Amino acid sequence: MLKDKVAVVTGASRGIGKEIAKTLALQGAKVIVNFCGSEEKARETVEEIKEAGGVAEALQCDVSDFDKAAEMMEYVVKQYGRVDILVNNAGITRDGLLMKMSGEDFDAVLDTNLKGAFHCIRHVARQMVKQRGGRIINISSVSGVLGNAGQVNYSASKAGIIGMTKAAARELASRGITVNAVAPGFIKTDMTDKLSDSVKEGVTAQIPLRTFGETKDVAYAVAFLASEEARYITGQVLCVDGGMAM
Ligand code: NAP
Repeated sequence: MLKDKVAVVTGASRGIGKEIAKTLALQGAKVIVNFCGSEEKARETVEEIKEAGGVAEALQCDVSDFDKAAEMMEYVVKQYGRVDILVNNAGITRDGLLMKMSGEDFDAVLDTNLKGAFHCIRHVARQMVKQRGGRIINISSVSGVLGNAGQVNYSASKAGIIGMTKAAARELASRGITVNAVAPGFIKTDMTDKLSDSVKEGVTAQIPLRTFGETKDVAYAVAFLASEEARYITGQVLCVDGGMAM
């Protein structure tokens, strides 16, 4: 299905990114497992993919750094000859109430979540244009669709992802490149483990399907958008959120 495709998944050492990397690899893609600080976990992801018969390589890069993101993409093109799929998944939270939020916490979240995705798209686009094809999938969030109290920085970054997805989709469509966003709701990962039990309960009550999602729920949506079957879909936001944003 994705045989001979080359995929870069940012933030694939843990959580949703790890599951996306494993799912794309199972479908035959050669996967670059990008990580920032969790080298051991990235290597574990690669090992799991290899044990399942797939091809993967771990690659360190802080995507918030414009030049480092360029180096990562240059390396992938040199090593693999092409990039067919880019999944911008790397993300962080620095939650806090608006009136107490520092400029530093605002910038840190925007730098990784929004600028990080821009850097990777910026540095992969030329290669995809040359190939006359590619799939870019950006991980947004229900917080970017609806807004979330205590997350002005994160919500801004994830709403920004949606605007950037649509603008890039319009720019790149004539070259056979699709750009879509997936907006997960609350998914069981390290990111949501940080929430207190009372917050988790409150959130669950707002989810029509009444449960947090699994990383696989997001990975399957990404794999679909990366597939040939999704060739006529671009500029869309696919919510994988148990019905939260409907
Ligand atoms: P997670 O478990 O905290 O994992 C975050 C991943 O991002 C890690 O692999 C981390 O790598 C990587 N990362 C962070 N900063 C990076 C940087 N500067 N450069 C490269 N990689 C970086 O998070 P998650 O829950 O899987 O979330 C994954 C994505 O889904 C994020 O964009 C998040 O905003 C989005 N999302 C999550 C949920 C949810 O409920 N979990 C809901 C909506 C959207 P290292 O460990 O190597 O630093």
